[in-house]
Amino acid sequence: FPADRIRNFCIIAHIDHGKSTLADRLLEMTGAIAKTEKNKQVLDKLQVERERGITVKAQTASLFYNHEGQQYLLNLIDTPGHVDFSYEVSRSISACQGVLLIVDANQGIQAQTVANFYLAFEAQLAIIPVINKIDLKNADPERVESQIEKVFDIPREECIRISAKLGTNVENVLQAVVDRIPPPEASIDDPFKALVFDSNFDHYRGVVANIAVFGGRVKKGDRIVSAYLGKTYEVNELGLLRPDEHSTGKLFAGQVGYIVAGMKDVKEAQIGDTLYLQEQPVEALPGFKPAKAMVFAGMYPMDQSEYQGLRSAIEKLTLNDSSVTVQRDSSLALGAGWRLGFLGLLHMEVFNQRLEQEYNASVIVTAPTVPYKAVLSSAKLIKNRRAVQKNMLYIDDQRVMMKYLFPLNEVVVDFYDLLKSLSSGYASFDYENAGYQAADLIKMDILLNGRPVEELITIVHRDRAYSSGKAMCERLKDSIPRQMFEIAVQAAIGSKVIARETIKAYKKNVLAKCYGGDITRKMKLLKKQAEGKKKMRLIGSVEVPKDAFINVLKRK
Ligand code: GDP
Ligand code: MG
Repeated sequence: FPADRIRNFCIIAHIDHGKSTLADRLLEMTGAIAKTEKNKQVLDKLQVERERGITVKAQTASLFYNHEGQQYLLNLIDTPGHVDFSYEVSRSISACQGVLLIVDANQGIQAQTVANFYLAFEAQLAIIPVINKIDLKNADPERVESQIEKVFDIPREECIRISAKLGTNVENVLQAVVDRIPPPEASIDDPFKALVFDSNFDHYRGVVANIAVFGGRVKKGDRIVSAYLGKTYEVNELGLLRPDEHSTGKLFAGQVGYIVAGMKDVKEAQIGDTLYLQEQPVEALPGFKPAKAMVFAGMYPMDQSEYQGLRSAIEKLTLNDSSVTVQRDSSLALGAGWRLGFLGLLHMEVFNQRLEQEYNASVIVTAPTVPYKAVLSSAKLIKNRRAVQKNMLYIDDQRVMMKYLFPLNEVVVDFYDLLKSLSSGYASFDYENAGYQAADLIKMDILLNGRPVEELITIVHRDRAYSSGKAMCERLKDSIPRQMFEIAVQAAIGSKVIARETIKAYKKNVLAKCYGGDITRKMKLLKKQAEGKKKMRLIGSVEVPKDAFINVLKRK
Protein backbone atom coordinates (compact mmCIF):
# COMPACT_ATOMS: atom_id res chain seq x y z
CA PHE A 1 0.00 0.00 0.00
CA PRO A 2 1.59 3.34 -0.98
CA ALA A 3 2.28 5.42 2.14
CA ASP A 4 0.60 8.53 0.66
CA ARG A 5 -2.71 6.70 0.77
CA ILE A 6 -2.39 5.80 4.47
CA ARG A 7 -3.88 7.91 7.27
CA ASN A 8 -3.24 7.19 10.94
CA PHE A 9 -5.60 8.93 13.32
CA CYS A 10 -7.17 8.60 16.71
CA ILE A 11 -10.33 9.84 18.31
CA ILE A 12 -9.97 11.84 21.49
CA ALA A 13 -12.70 13.27 23.68
CA HIS A 14 -13.98 13.77 27.16
CA ILE A 15 -15.63 10.63 28.52
CA ASP A 16 -19.12 9.93 27.06
CA HIS A 17 -18.84 12.49 24.27
CA GLY A 18 -19.18 9.68 21.73
CA LYS A 19 -15.77 8.33 20.71
CA SER A 20 -16.76 4.69 20.65
CA THR A 21 -20.08 5.38 18.94
CA LEU A 22 -18.32 7.33 16.19
CA ALA A 23 -15.78 4.50 15.87
CA ASP A 24 -18.69 2.07 15.33
CA ARG A 25 -20.12 4.26 12.55
CA LEU A 26 -16.72 4.55 10.85
CA LEU A 27 -16.31 0.78 11.02
CA GLU A 28 -19.75 0.23 9.52
CA MET A 29 -19.34 2.77 6.74
CA THR A 30 -16.09 1.22 5.61
CA GLY A 31 -17.54 -2.27 5.74
CA ALA A 32 -15.35 -3.50 8.59
CA ILE A 33 -18.42 -4.55 10.54
CA ALA A 34 -22.05 -5.15 9.63
CA LYS A 35 -24.75 -2.64 10.53
CA THR A 36 -26.63 -4.38 13.32
CA GLU A 37 -27.98 -3.38 16.66
CA LYS A 38 -25.58 -5.76 18.38
CA ASN A 39 -22.50 -3.94 17.16
CA LYS A 40 -22.41 -1.30 19.84
CA GLN A 41 -19.04 0.02 20.93
CA VAL A 42 -17.33 -2.77 19.02
CA LEU A 43 -13.88 -1.65 20.06
CA ASP A 44 -14.78 -1.83 23.75
CA LYS A 45 -14.13 -5.54 24.25
CA LEU A 46 -13.79 -5.93 28.00
CA GLN A 47 -16.89 -6.60 30.07
CA VAL A 48 -15.99 -3.76 32.41
CA GLU A 49 -15.75 -1.42 29.42
CA ARG A 50 -19.19 -2.37 28.21
CA GLU A 51 -20.68 -2.06 31.67
CA ARG A 52 -19.15 1.24 32.58
CA GLY A 53 -19.37 2.50 29.02
CA ILE A 54 -15.73 3.52 29.11
CA THR A 55 -12.68 2.52 27.15
CA VAL A 56 -9.84 1.12 29.21
CA LYS A 57 -7.49 -0.23 26.58
CA ALA A 58 -6.71 1.40 23.27
CA GLN A 59 -8.04 -0.63 20.34
CA THR A 60 -7.16 -0.43 16.71
CA ALA A 61 -8.88 -1.00 13.42
CA SER A 62 -7.62 -0.70 9.86
CA LEU A 63 -10.34 0.54 7.50
CA PHE A 64 -10.42 0.59 3.73
CA TYR A 65 -12.08 3.69 2.34
CA ASN A 66 -12.79 4.54 -1.29
CA HIS A 67 -12.58 8.23 -2.05
CA GLU A 68 -12.53 9.86 -5.51
CA GLY A 69 -11.58 6.61 -7.19
CA GLN A 70 -8.71 5.87 -4.84
CA GLN A 71 -8.55 3.34 -2.03
CA TYR A 72 -7.20 4.59 1.29
CA LEU A 73 -6.03 2.66 4.33
CA LEU A 74 -7.29 4.45 7.44
CA ASN A 75 -5.86 3.27 10.75
CA LEU A 76 -8.15 4.19 13.60
CA ILE A 77 -6.82 4.00 17.13
CA ASP A 78 -9.51 4.26 19.81
CA THR A 79 -7.98 5.74 22.95
CA PRO A 80 -9.06 5.52 26.56
CA GLY A 81 -10.44 8.98 27.42
CA HIS A 82 -9.83 8.93 31.14
CA VAL A 83 -6.95 10.76 32.81
CA ASP A 84 -5.72 7.62 34.53
CA PHE A 85 -4.82 6.31 31.12
CA SER A 86 -3.42 9.52 29.67
CA TYR A 87 -0.02 7.93 29.14
CA GLU A 88 -1.70 5.40 26.84
CA VAL A 89 -3.48 8.24 25.09
CA SER A 90 -0.21 10.04 24.53
CA ARG A 91 1.43 6.91 23.07
CA SER A 92 -1.55 6.28 20.81
CA ILE A 93 -1.29 9.87 19.69
CA SER A 94 2.35 9.49 18.81
CA ALA A 95 1.42 6.66 16.44
CA CYS A 96 -0.81 9.10 14.49
CA GLN A 97 -0.59 12.20 12.30
CA GLY A 98 -4.04 13.52 13.17
CA VAL A 99 -6.89 13.38 15.65
CA LEU A 100 -10.64 13.75 15.67
CA LEU A 101 -11.37 15.92 18.69
CA ILE A 102 -14.95 15.20 19.66
CA VAL A 103 -17.01 17.62 21.71
CA ASP A 104 -20.56 16.95 22.89
CA ALA A 105 -22.91 19.58 21.39
CA ASN A 106 -24.75 19.86 24.65
CA GLN A 107 -21.98 19.69 27.24
CA GLY A 108 -19.32 21.62 25.37
CA ILE A 109 -15.64 21.62 26.28
CA GLN A 110 -14.84 19.59 29.40
CA ALA A 111 -11.70 18.93 31.42
CA GLN A 112 -10.47 15.96 29.39
CA THR A 113 -11.28 17.72 26.12
CA VAL A 114 -8.67 20.28 27.14
CA ALA A 115 -6.14 17.72 28.41
CA ASN A 116 -6.45 15.61 25.25
CA PHE A 117 -6.29 18.65 22.99
CA TYR A 118 -2.94 19.62 24.47
CA LEU A 119 -1.54 16.12 24.01
CA ALA A 120 -2.40 16.31 20.30
CA PHE A 121 -1.31 19.93 19.97
CA GLU A 122 2.09 19.29 21.55
CA ALA A 123 2.61 16.32 19.24
CA GLN A 124 1.90 18.75 16.33
CA LEU A 125 -0.92 16.64 14.90
CA ALA A 126 -3.65 17.82 12.55
CA ILE A 127 -6.73 18.41 14.70
CA ILE A 128 -10.22 17.99 13.27
CA PRO A 129 -12.88 19.33 15.64
CA VAL A 130 -16.07 17.29 15.55
CA ILE A 131 -19.23 18.41 17.31
CA ASN A 132 -21.26 15.33 18.19
CA LYS A 133 -24.83 14.66 19.32
CA ILE A 134 -26.41 17.44 17.27
CA ASP A 135 -29.61 15.36 17.35
CA LEU A 136 -30.08 16.13 21.05
CA LYS A 137 -32.88 18.53 21.96
CA ASN A 138 -30.51 20.77 23.93
CA ALA A 139 -27.70 20.66 21.40
CA ASP A 140 -26.09 24.06 20.91
CA PRO A 141 -23.39 23.60 18.25
CA GLU A 142 -23.02 27.40 17.74
CA ARG A 143 -21.96 27.81 21.30
CA VAL A 144 -19.57 24.87 21.22
CA GLU A 145 -17.98 26.31 18.08
CA SER A 146 -17.40 29.58 19.92
CA GLN A 147 -15.79 27.69 22.77
CA ILE A 148 -13.51 25.83 20.37
CA GLU A 149 -12.50 29.09 18.74
CA LYS A 150 -11.83 30.76 22.07
CA VAL A 151 -10.07 27.97 23.97
CA PHE A 152 -8.19 26.19 21.17
CA ASP A 153 -7.84 28.96 18.64
CA ILE A 154 -9.31 26.77 15.88
CA PRO A 155 -11.52 28.62 13.33
CA ARG A 156 -15.18 27.64 13.73
CA GLU A 157 -15.43 26.85 10.02
CA GLU A 158 -13.26 23.78 10.61
CA CYS A 159 -15.81 22.16 12.93
CA ILE A 160 -17.86 19.25 11.58
CA ARG A 161 -21.30 18.83 13.12
CA ILE A 162 -22.44 15.23 13.39
CA SER A 163 -24.67 12.76 15.14
CA ALA A 164 -22.62 9.62 15.64
CA LYS A 165 -25.70 7.87 16.91
CA LEU A 166 -27.77 8.50 13.80
CA GLY A 167 -24.86 8.60 11.37
CA THR A 168 -25.60 12.19 10.31
CA ASN A 169 -22.64 13.78 8.44
CA VAL A 170 -20.25 11.00 9.43
CA GLU A 171 -19.23 10.67 5.75
CA ASN A 172 -17.78 14.21 6.06
CA VAL A 173 -15.59 13.03 8.88
CA LEU A 174 -14.07 10.30 6.70
CA GLN A 175 -13.44 12.82 3.94
CA ALA A 176 -11.81 15.23 6.36
CA VAL A 177 -9.52 12.44 7.58
CA VAL A 178 -8.29 11.96 4.00
CA ASP A 179 -8.11 15.68 3.14
CA ARG A 180 -6.82 17.25 6.33
CA ILE A 181 -4.55 14.63 7.90
CA PRO A 182 -1.15 14.20 6.28
CA PRO A 183 0.07 10.71 5.37
CA PRO A 184 2.79 9.26 7.63
CA GLU A 185 6.29 10.32 6.65
CA ALA A 186 7.51 6.77 6.70
CA SER A 187 9.82 5.37 4.10
CA ILE A 188 9.93 1.72 3.24
CA ASP A 189 13.64 2.13 2.43
CA ASP A 190 14.53 3.11 6.01
CA PRO A 191 15.52 0.47 8.56
CA PHE A 192 12.53 -1.13 10.30
CA LYS A 193 11.34 0.87 13.30
CA ALA A 194 8.02 0.47 15.13
CA LEU A 195 6.29 1.95 18.16
CA VAL A 196 4.51 -0.36 20.60
CA PHE A 197 1.34 1.46 21.62
CA ASP A 198 -0.55 -1.38 23.29
CA SER A 199 -0.08 -4.98 24.31
CA ASN A 200 -2.24 -7.90 25.37
CA PHE A 201 -1.58 -11.37 26.67
CA ASP A 202 -2.87 -14.45 24.90
CA HIS A 203 -2.56 -17.85 26.56
CA TYR A 204 -1.51 -19.67 23.43
CA ARG A 205 0.70 -17.17 21.67
CA GLY A 206 2.04 -15.04 24.51
CA VAL A 207 2.15 -11.27 24.08
CA VAL A 208 0.29 -9.69 21.16
CA ALA A 209 1.65 -6.18 20.69
CA ASN A 210 -0.03 -3.43 18.69
CA ILE A 211 2.52 -1.48 16.70
CA ALA A 212 2.79 1.47 14.34
CA VAL A 213 5.52 0.97 11.74
CA PHE A 214 7.50 4.20 11.34
CA GLY A 215 9.96 2.93 8.78
CA GLY A 216 11.06 -0.08 6.74
CA ARG A 217 9.35 -3.45 6.73
CA VAL A 218 9.07 -6.52 8.93
CA LYS A 219 7.97 -10.06 8.09
CA LYS A 220 7.44 -13.45 9.63
CA GLY A 221 10.72 -15.07 10.69
CA ASP A 222 12.60 -11.74 11.15
CA ARG A 223 14.59 -11.31 14.34
CA ILE A 224 13.57 -8.19 16.20
CA VAL A 225 14.82 -6.40 19.32
CA SER A 226 12.87 -4.40 21.92
CA ALA A 227 14.83 -1.26 22.67
CA TYR A 228 13.97 -0.94 26.37
CA LEU A 229 15.05 -4.43 27.48
CA GLY A 230 17.38 -5.16 24.58
CA LYS A 231 15.96 -8.70 24.17
CA THR A 232 15.77 -10.44 20.79
CA TYR A 233 12.71 -12.29 19.48
CA GLU A 234 11.63 -14.09 16.32
CA VAL A 235 8.47 -12.82 14.63
CA ASN A 236 5.88 -15.63 14.57
CA GLU A 237 2.85 -13.83 13.28
CA LEU A 238 1.78 -10.34 12.25
CA GLY A 239 -0.93 -8.51 10.35
CA LEU A 240 -3.67 -5.89 10.35
CA LEU A 241 -6.51 -5.36 12.83
CA ARG A 242 -9.82 -5.00 11.01
CA PRO A 243 -10.70 -4.88 13.96
CA ASP A 244 -10.14 -8.63 14.37
CA GLU A 245 -6.68 -9.96 13.59
CA HIS A 246 -6.06 -10.45 9.91
CA SER A 247 -2.71 -12.16 9.37
CA THR A 248 -0.72 -10.73 6.44
CA GLY A 249 2.76 -12.13 7.11
CA LYS A 250 4.33 -8.69 6.76
CA LEU A 251 3.92 -5.02 7.74
CA PHE A 252 5.24 -1.93 5.97
CA ALA A 253 6.19 1.62 6.84
CA GLY A 254 3.06 3.67 7.65
CA GLN A 255 0.97 0.67 8.63
CA VAL A 256 -0.51 -0.10 12.00
CA GLY A 257 -1.05 -3.72 13.08
CA TYR A 258 -0.26 -6.50 15.54
CA ILE A 259 2.80 -8.64 16.04
CA VAL A 260 3.44 -11.88 17.97
CA ALA A 261 7.06 -12.68 18.71
CA GLY A 262 7.24 -15.16 21.59
CA MET A 263 7.24 -12.55 24.34
CA LYS A 264 6.06 -14.17 27.56
CA ASP A 265 5.14 -11.13 29.61
CA VAL A 266 3.51 -7.80 28.71
CA LYS A 267 6.39 -6.15 30.56
CA GLU A 268 8.53 -7.23 27.59
CA ALA A 269 6.36 -5.18 25.22
CA GLN A 270 5.92 -2.00 27.19
CA ILE A 271 3.75 0.73 25.80
CA GLY A 272 5.95 3.38 24.20
CA ASP A 273 8.85 1.01 23.51
CA THR A 274 10.54 0.72 20.09
CA LEU A 275 11.11 -2.46 18.03
CA TYR A 276 13.84 -2.80 15.39
CA LEU A 277 15.58 -5.52 13.39
CA GLN A 278 18.50 -7.27 15.04
CA GLU A 279 20.79 -6.63 12.07
CA GLN A 280 19.76 -2.97 11.72
CA PRO A 281 19.80 -1.27 15.13
CA VAL A 282 18.16 2.18 15.22
CA GLU A 283 17.73 4.84 17.85
CA ALA A 284 14.66 4.36 20.05
CA LEU A 285 11.66 6.66 19.50
CA PRO A 286 11.53 9.51 22.01
CA GLY A 287 9.08 9.85 24.88
CA PHE A 288 9.17 6.34 26.31
CA LYS A 289 8.71 6.03 30.05
CA PRO A 290 7.81 2.92 31.97
CA ALA A 291 4.30 3.32 33.41
CA LYS A 292 4.44 4.75 36.92
CA ALA A 293 2.02 3.84 39.69
CA MET A 294 0.59 6.84 41.54
CA VAL A 295 -2.08 5.29 43.75
CA PHE A 296 -1.44 2.33 46.04
CA ALA A 297 -3.83 0.07 47.88
CA GLY A 298 -3.65 -3.18 49.79
CA MET A 299 -5.65 -6.13 48.47
CA TYR A 300 -6.43 -9.05 50.74
CA PRO A 301 -8.58 -12.16 50.40
CA MET A 302 -11.81 -12.09 52.43
CA ASP A 303 -10.57 -15.27 54.02
CA GLN A 304 -7.00 -16.60 54.05
CA SER A 305 -8.21 -19.87 52.51
CA GLU A 306 -8.86 -17.88 49.32
CA TYR A 307 -5.28 -16.64 49.15
CA GLN A 308 -4.11 -18.97 46.35
CA GLY A 309 -7.15 -18.28 44.20
CA LEU A 310 -6.75 -14.54 44.54
CA ARG A 311 -3.05 -14.80 43.81
CA SER A 312 -3.62 -16.56 40.53
CA ALA A 313 -6.37 -14.10 39.56
CA ILE A 314 -4.07 -11.13 40.23
CA GLU A 315 -1.29 -12.81 38.24
CA LYS A 316 -3.56 -13.38 35.26
CA LEU A 317 -4.89 -9.84 35.25
CA THR A 318 -1.48 -8.24 35.53
CA LEU A 319 -0.37 -10.33 32.54
CA ASN A 320 -2.49 -7.94 30.52
CA ASP A 321 -1.61 -4.73 32.25
CA SER A 322 2.04 -3.86 32.58
CA SER A 323 1.22 -0.67 34.48
CA VAL A 324 0.05 -2.43 37.66
CA THR A 325 2.79 -3.06 40.21
CA VAL A 326 2.42 -5.93 42.67
CA GLN A 327 4.25 -6.50 45.91
CA ARG A 328 3.57 -9.09 48.55
CA ASP A 329 2.43 -7.56 51.78
CA SER A 330 0.95 -8.71 55.03
CA SER A 331 -1.07 -7.01 57.68
CA LEU A 332 -1.56 -8.21 61.24
CA ALA A 333 -5.23 -7.51 60.82
CA LEU A 334 -5.93 -8.78 57.32
CA GLY A 335 -3.34 -11.54 56.94
CA ALA A 336 -1.28 -12.19 53.82
CA GLY A 337 -2.06 -10.09 50.76
CA TRP A 338 -0.53 -7.65 48.29
CA ARG A 339 0.16 -4.02 47.83
CA LEU A 340 -0.76 -2.95 44.32
CA GLY A 341 0.11 0.24 42.51
CA PHE A 342 -2.17 1.81 39.89
CA LEU A 343 -2.07 4.75 37.50
CA GLY A 344 -5.05 6.31 39.26
CA LEU A 345 -8.30 5.67 41.08
CA LEU A 346 -10.37 4.59 38.08
CA HIS A 347 -7.60 2.23 37.08
CA MET A 348 -7.78 0.70 40.56
CA GLU A 349 -11.56 0.36 40.46
CA VAL A 350 -11.51 -1.18 37.03
CA PHE A 351 -8.86 -3.68 38.16
CA ASN A 352 -10.89 -4.60 41.21
CA GLN A 353 -14.06 -4.97 39.19
CA ARG A 354 -12.31 -7.22 36.69
CA LEU A 355 -10.97 -9.40 39.54
CA GLU A 356 -14.49 -9.85 40.81
CA GLN A 357 -16.19 -10.29 37.43
CA GLU A 358 -13.69 -12.23 35.39
CA TYR A 359 -12.07 -14.27 38.17
CA ASN A 360 -14.85 -14.43 40.73
CA ALA A 361 -12.51 -13.22 43.45
CA SER A 362 -13.76 -11.41 46.53
CA VAL A 363 -11.30 -8.88 47.79
CA ILE A 364 -10.82 -6.45 50.64
CA VAL A 365 -9.34 -3.26 49.22
CA THR A 366 -7.77 -0.90 51.73
CA ALA A 367 -8.02 2.89 51.52
CA PRO A 368 -5.72 4.09 48.72
CA THR A 369 -2.57 6.01 49.48
CA VAL A 370 -0.11 7.97 47.37
CA PRO A 371 3.68 7.84 47.43
CA TYR A 372 5.54 10.19 49.73
CA LYS A 373 9.19 10.97 50.03
CA ALA A 374 10.04 11.50 53.68
CA VAL A 375 12.67 14.07 54.60
CA LEU A 376 13.39 14.05 58.29
CA SER A 377 14.28 17.65 59.00
CA SER A 378 12.68 20.77 60.38
CA ALA A 379 12.13 22.12 56.83
CA LYS A 380 9.01 20.05 56.76
CA LEU A 381 7.54 22.30 59.19
CA ILE A 382 6.85 24.84 56.45
CA LYS A 383 3.17 25.59 56.57
CA ASN A 384 1.68 24.73 53.25
CA ARG A 385 -1.69 25.58 51.89
CA ARG A 386 -3.12 22.41 50.50
CA ALA A 387 -4.27 23.82 47.17
CA VAL A 388 -2.77 26.70 45.24
CA GLN A 389 -4.67 28.34 42.41
CA LYS A 390 -2.59 28.62 39.24
CA ASN A 391 -4.92 30.23 36.71
CA MET A 392 -8.47 30.72 35.57
CA LEU A 393 -10.10 31.12 32.15
CA TYR A 394 -13.69 31.83 31.22
CA ILE A 395 -14.63 29.42 28.44
CA ASP A 396 -17.88 31.31 27.91
CA ASP A 397 -20.50 32.96 30.10
CA GLN A 398 -21.43 29.66 31.72
CA ARG A 399 -18.20 27.79 32.15
CA VAL A 400 -14.91 28.53 33.76
CA MET A 401 -11.68 26.57 33.71
CA MET A 402 -9.56 26.71 36.85
CA LYS A 403 -6.14 25.25 37.47
CA TYR A 404 -4.92 24.33 40.93
CA LEU A 405 -1.88 22.69 42.36
CA PHE A 406 -3.15 19.95 44.66
CA PRO A 407 -1.57 17.24 46.76
CA LEU A 408 -2.50 13.96 45.07
CA ASN A 409 -3.56 12.48 48.37
CA GLU A 410 -6.32 15.10 48.66
CA VAL A 411 -7.48 14.09 45.23
CA VAL A 412 -7.52 10.30 45.60
CA VAL A 413 -9.83 10.06 48.53
CA ASP A 414 -13.10 11.72 47.65
CA PHE A 415 -12.35 14.92 45.78
CA TYR A 416 -13.92 13.81 42.55
CA ASP A 417 -17.14 12.63 44.19
CA LEU A 418 -17.39 15.88 46.14
CA LEU A 419 -16.80 18.03 43.09
CA LYS A 420 -19.47 16.13 41.18
CA SER A 421 -22.05 16.43 43.92
CA LEU A 422 -21.33 20.10 44.67
CA SER A 423 -21.78 20.99 41.01
CA SER A 424 -24.69 18.58 40.47
CA GLY A 425 -22.56 16.66 38.01
CA TYR A 426 -21.66 19.66 35.85
CA ALA A 427 -18.04 20.11 36.79
CA SER A 428 -15.42 17.91 35.23
CA PHE A 429 -11.91 17.34 36.38
CA ASP A 430 -8.52 16.31 35.11
CA TYR A 431 -5.08 16.09 36.67
CA GLU A 432 -1.46 15.65 35.82
CA ASN A 433 1.51 14.90 38.03
CA ALA A 434 3.30 18.05 39.17
CA GLY A 435 6.03 16.23 41.09
CA TYR A 436 6.79 15.97 44.78
CA GLN A 437 6.22 19.00 47.01
CA ALA A 438 7.21 19.63 50.59
CA ALA A 439 4.28 19.25 52.98
CA ASP A 440 3.66 19.16 56.69
CA LEU A 441 2.91 15.47 57.16
CA ILE A 442 2.86 13.62 60.42
CA LYS A 443 2.51 10.09 61.67
CA MET A 444 -0.67 9.38 63.57
CA ASP A 445 -1.11 6.50 66.02
CA ILE A 446 -4.33 4.90 67.15
CA LEU A 447 -4.35 3.69 70.76
CA LEU A 448 -6.61 1.24 72.55
CA ASN A 449 -6.40 1.73 76.30
CA GLY A 450 -3.07 3.40 75.77
CA ARG A 451 -1.54 0.72 73.49
CA PRO A 452 -0.70 1.62 69.90
CA VAL A 453 -2.33 -0.48 67.17
CA GLU A 454 0.35 -1.21 64.62
CA GLU A 455 -2.11 -1.93 61.78
CA LEU A 456 -3.65 1.52 61.99
CA ILE A 457 -0.65 3.83 61.84
CA THR A 458 -1.28 6.43 59.11
CA ILE A 459 0.42 9.42 57.55
CA VAL A 460 -1.76 12.53 57.50
CA HIS A 461 -1.41 16.21 56.86
CA ARG A 462 -1.13 18.18 60.10
CA ASP A 463 -4.24 20.23 59.27
CA ARG A 464 -6.26 17.08 58.71
CA ALA A 465 -4.97 15.07 61.66
CA TYR A 466 -7.80 16.06 63.97
CA SER A 467 -10.67 15.24 61.61
CA SER A 468 -9.17 12.03 60.30
CA GLY A 469 -8.20 10.88 63.81
CA LYS A 470 -11.71 11.57 65.00
CA ALA A 471 -13.21 9.65 62.08
CA MET A 472 -10.99 6.63 62.73
CA CYS A 473 -11.86 6.62 66.44
CA GLU A 474 -15.56 6.77 65.61
CA ARG A 475 -15.35 3.93 63.13
CA LEU A 476 -13.44 1.82 65.65
CA LYS A 477 -15.92 2.60 68.40
CA ASP A 478 -18.72 1.36 66.18
CA SER A 479 -16.99 -1.86 65.29
CA ILE A 480 -15.43 -3.02 68.58
CA PRO A 481 -18.01 -4.75 70.77
CA ARG A 482 -18.35 -3.75 74.39
CA GLN A 483 -16.20 -5.68 76.80
CA MET A 484 -16.10 -6.23 80.54
CA PHE A 485 -14.23 -2.97 81.06
CA GLU A 486 -14.22 0.49 79.55
CA ILE A 487 -12.03 1.02 76.47
CA ALA A 488 -10.47 4.30 75.48
CA VAL A 489 -10.02 4.71 71.72
CA GLN A 490 -7.54 7.50 71.02
CA ALA A 491 -5.75 9.08 68.11
CA ALA A 492 -2.36 10.53 69.00
CA ILE A 493 0.51 12.41 67.40
CA GLY A 494 3.63 11.56 69.32
CA SER A 495 2.51 11.76 72.93
CA LYS A 496 -0.31 14.22 72.25
CA VAL A 497 -3.83 12.78 72.14
CA ILE A 498 -5.93 14.57 69.52
CA ALA A 499 -9.18 12.56 69.52
CA ARG A 500 -10.92 10.17 71.86
CA GLU A 501 -13.94 7.92 71.97
CA THR A 502 -15.00 5.67 74.80
CA ILE A 503 -16.51 2.21 74.54
CA LYS A 504 -18.55 1.63 77.69
CA ALA A 505 -18.14 -1.52 79.71
CA TYR A 506 -20.33 -4.47 78.91
CA LYS A 507 -22.72 -5.00 81.76
CA LYS A 508 -24.54 -8.18 80.91
CA ASN A 509 -23.08 -11.58 81.09
CA VAL A 510 -23.74 -13.75 78.02
CA LEU A 511 -25.31 -16.27 80.34
CA ALA A 512 -27.47 -13.77 82.16
CA LYS A 513 -30.54 -14.69 80.17
CA CYS A 514 -30.06 -18.40 80.74
CA TYR A 515 -31.48 -18.68 84.21
CA GLY A 516 -32.81 -22.06 84.86
CA GLY A 517 -30.99 -25.19 83.90
CA ASP A 518 -30.91 -25.35 80.10
CA ILE A 519 -27.38 -26.65 79.96
CA THR A 520 -27.22 -27.29 76.20
CA ARG A 521 -28.26 -23.72 75.51
CA LYS A 522 -25.54 -22.51 77.89
CA MET A 523 -22.96 -24.64 76.14
CA LYS A 524 -24.03 -23.33 72.78
CA LEU A 525 -23.68 -19.73 73.87
CA LEU A 526 -20.28 -20.34 75.40
CA LYS A 527 -19.13 -22.15 72.26
CA LYS A 528 -20.31 -19.31 70.08
CA GLN A 529 -18.43 -16.88 72.25
CA ALA A 530 -15.28 -19.00 72.03
CA GLU A 531 -15.53 -19.17 68.24
CA GLY A 532 -15.91 -15.43 68.10
CA LYS A 533 -12.73 -15.13 70.13
CA LYS A 534 -10.69 -17.00 67.56
CA LYS A 535 -11.28 -14.18 65.11
CA MET A 536 -10.18 -11.66 67.71
CA ARG A 537 -6.87 -9.98 68.06
CA LEU A 538 -5.74 -9.02 71.54
CA ILE A 539 -4.33 -5.54 71.95
CA GLY A 540 -3.35 -5.27 75.59
CA SER A 541 -6.39 -6.84 77.13
CA VAL A 542 -8.78 -5.46 74.51
CA GLU A 543 -10.24 -8.00 72.10
CA VAL A 544 -10.57 -6.54 68.62
CA PRO A 545 -12.55 -8.49 66.00
CA LYS A 546 -11.01 -8.75 62.55
CA ASP A 547 -14.02 -6.91 61.15
CA ALA A 548 -13.08 -3.83 63.13
CA PHE A 549 -9.80 -3.52 61.26
CA ILE A 550 -11.52 -4.15 57.98
CA ASN A 551 -14.06 -1.43 58.71
CA VAL A 552 -11.37 1.09 59.49
CA LEU A 553 -8.95 0.08 56.72
CA LYS A 554 -11.38 -0.64 53.92
CA ARG A 555 -12.36 1.88 51.28
CA LYS A 556 -15.88 3.12 51.84
P1 GDP B 1 -17.13 7.54 24.71
O1 GDP B 1 -17.02 7.45 26.20
O2 GDP B 1 -16.58 8.84 24.23
O3 GDP B 1 -16.58 6.35 23.99
O4 GDP B 1 -18.71 7.64 24.40
P2 GDP B 1 -19.70 6.56 23.81
O5 GDP B 1 -19.51 6.37 22.36
O6 GDP B 1 -19.64 5.34 24.67
O7 GDP B 1 -21.08 7.34 23.98
C1 GDP B 1 -21.56 7.75 25.26
C2 GDP B 1 -23.08 7.83 25.22
O8 GDP B 1 -23.51 8.85 24.31
C3 GDP B 1 -23.73 6.53 24.74
O9 GDP B 1 -24.89 6.33 25.51
C4 GDP B 1 -24.06 6.82 23.29
O10 GDP B 1 -25.18 6.08 22.84
C5 GDP B 1 -24.39 8.31 23.33
N1 GDP B 1 -24.14 8.97 22.05
C6 GDP B 1 -23.03 8.89 21.28
N2 GDP B 1 -23.16 9.62 20.15
C7 GDP B 1 -24.42 10.18 20.20
C8 GDP B 1 -25.16 11.05 19.31
O11 GDP B 1 -24.72 11.45 18.24
N3 GDP B 1 -26.39 11.40 19.74
C9 GDP B 1 -26.92 10.98 20.91
N4 GDP B 1 -28.15 11.39 21.21
N5 GDP B 1 -26.26 10.17 21.74
C10 GDP B 1 -25.02 9.77 21.41
MG1 MG C 1 -15.59 4.63 24.62
